[in-house]
Amino acid sequence: MNTFASLGLAPALVSAVNALGYEEPTPIQKEAIPVLLSGRDLVGQAGTGTGKTAAFALPMLERLMKSGAKAKGPITPNLKSPAKRFPAVLGMVLVPTRELAMQVAEAVQKYSKGTNLTVVPLYGGAPMDQQIRGLMRGASVVVATPGRALDHMRRQTLDLTELQVLVLDEADEMLDMGFAEDLEAILSETPATRQTALFAATMAPRIASIANKHLKQPERITIAREKRAPGKVARVRQVAYIVSKHQKMEAFGRILEFENPKSAIVFCRTRIEVDELNDTLKAHGYGAQALHGGMEQKQRDRVMNMFRTGKADMLVATDVAARGLDIEHVSHVFNYDVPNAPEVYVHRIGRTGRMGREGIAISIVDPRERRLLRSIENLTKQAIEVAPLPTVSDLRAKRLEATRTALTDRIAAGDLDGVKVFVKSLSQDFDVADIAAAAIAMLHEASHGDGTEPEAEIPAPSAAPAYAPRPARNAGAGRERFDERARERPRGRPREHSPKRPAAAPAGDIDMSRITVLRIGVGKKAAVRPGDLVGAITGEAGIQSKYLGAIKIAHEHSLVEVPQQMAEHIMESLRKTTIRGKAVDVRIEPGNE
Ligand code: ADP
Ligand code: MG
Repeated sequence: MNTFASLGLAPALVSAVNALGYEEPTPIQKEAIPVLLSGRDLVGQAGTGTGKTAAFALPMLERLMKSGAKAKGPITPNLKSPAKRFPAVLGMVLVPTRELAMQVAEAVQKYSKGTNLTVVPLYGGAPMDQQIRGLMRGASVVVATPGRALDHMRRQTLDLTELQVLVLDEADEMLDMGFAEDLEAILSETPATRQTALFAATMAPRIASIANKHLKQPERITIAREKRAPGKVARVRQVAYIVSKHQKMEAFGRILEFENPKSAIVFCRTRIEVDELNDTLKAHGYGAQALHGGMEQKQRDRVMNMFRTGKADMLVATDVAARGLDIEHVSHVFNYDVPNAPEVYVHRIGRTGRMGREGIAISIVDPRERRLLRSIENLTKQAIEVAPLPTVSDLRAKRLEATRTALTDRIAAGDLDGVKVFVKSLSQDFDVADIAAAAIAMLHEASHGDGTEPEAEIPAPSAAPAYAPRPARNAGAGRERFDERARERPRGRPREHSPKRPAAAPAGDIDMSRITVLRIGVGKKAAVRPGDLVGAITGEAGIQSKYLGAIKIAHEHSLVEVPQQMAEHIMESLRKTTIRGKAVDVRIEPGNE
């Protein structure tokens, strides 16, 4: 079984990762956790985004819990003799940057939720006294940049004499930043009995020499990049957008608008992300449904049914929940997060481009995770196109294109005579082109109640250093804007400016000359009106009313003409719903199939 519990972690830690929505360990976690739990040293090589933090933090916490470590009570500072006053730190993670110190400390904090262990970040550029107070209260684990760690050691505010576990995270990065000497100095102040884990994306000789010198017969784990792909990658166009974290939601909204997918699976790494994204998408009027391992089987089946029948055109899912699903008509696979392992990517995108149909796989990639893209390309031997986000004018062009398609369809569908008379009479006063232009403008306005233009451009992630400090508080503005628009949009208003395509109607041309008559088991007795029937069919089956023919309402039943091709789908959809509060019996009227 591939679970965190089966790796031998304490229940408190297992429930902490469950609460974070992790469904199963990533490859590096699966391999590293048992080794570290056994007490051995470790050298791990894996790219960014593969889940290294939990790989070292969980076993570290486990060991510190078992050693009976507990936070010591607060103490009064004695500045004359500070050394005696600072509780010894039991675990330390060294990271190259301030940004990473914050990030890793936050993660370790979350993983340690069910324990009484405490975590304190130590990095430069922040007031000393606050960090000193944290150390004074007693830190089980510190997450530190080398410079600041040394600084505290010199002030005797950081006591490493009882250190049990030391982690060098992103060791190659620390060397590149010139921390080699600092690392040596720190290492020499720690007990030889400590357990040491070293992680790096590459195994340069300098890394190897640190490992040889300071680690004790370490187990070496490399997360392979060149393994054969499990099955061929389908004919799928693969695109990636590089987007920084705080713009992700807004960027995704724009990509969705641009792509206007017929049916899509959106993959996230965790259950929590699935739920959050699903809520946001729903608020925007997308027919999204969440699917993850935290849901009951019944609920999952219901969601899958909605997706299969086209009642939901987007599935927001974790990998585990989507595993083994056989879905045939997915036009788009979105990686809202790049998966932690390249093999998972191949699995994900195998959901589209099936049955000889063309598919598209779109990944949203954090600037720091570009390396993951490269390892995916290595695995699949296919290029992933890194594209700029659609611009405002791209979107505008796309909208016009969609309008053109909708108009073409509508003209082909005919039955415009009544309106034509009206246009003719208008044309005595106005130019026909002006009339058409005004009509299209009104159409756009009607469906984009929030103003017809997309918001300002989303800036490309800057070429700033990979670990640029997070922009201040208002960094979330992009997301807020996205959410705000959701609130402004009246409920139920379609998100598209063009008439909604038949969501689940059989694709391609509909043969209107072959009609089936459906007999629906409600009639005048139940006060059914044609609008109820049309509403149920367009709403439940996602079929446009233009495809429906004559409707006759008898006392206890009604007859509706539908294209033969759509009959099965409509019957299936109607059986799952109610009309005028009644579950309905739907069948083909004999002699009319
Ligand atoms: P790395 O240090 O290898 O770059 P991180 O530890 O920062 O990777 O993890 C990258 C992302 O993956 C984080 O958002 C983390 O919450 C998430 N993550 C880690 N492990 C798992 C898991 N088992 N399942 C789902 N998401 C995970
Ligand atoms: Mg990391």
